[in-house]
Amino acid sequence: MDQTKMKYAAYRAAGVCVQCGKESTADGRVRCRTCLEYNNQWRKDYIRRAGGKVHRIRKAYEQKMVNEGRCVACSGPLREEDAGYVRCINCREGSTRKRGV
Ligand SMILES: [Zn+2]
Ligand SMILES: [Zn+2]
Repeated sequence: MDQTKMKYAAYRAAGVCVQCGKESTADGRVRCRTCLEYNNQWRKDYIRRAGGKVHRIRKAYEQKMVNEGRCVACSGPLREEDAGYVRCINCREGSTRKRGV
């Protein structure tokens, strides 16, 4: 059993930030403000380090999210049926209509 996913589900159910497991979540999010801020900072730092190479940044971001079992679009959890995808079924269905992917 994947411990990360189990923890994620438990935190979500408890309304606690899935990232730090300490603070309560910000409105409509699965993370607290501190962690959302931290993630923003992480991305900014990464962009600076990568010298603004957007494609590589996106690749690295996708890899990070997939490693954590999360959708790259909404950062929600990926499920069994999402295996091999970087986006959850909701986001895939949403983008099918728009872009025909
Ligand atoms: Zn947090
Ligand atoms: Zn999604």
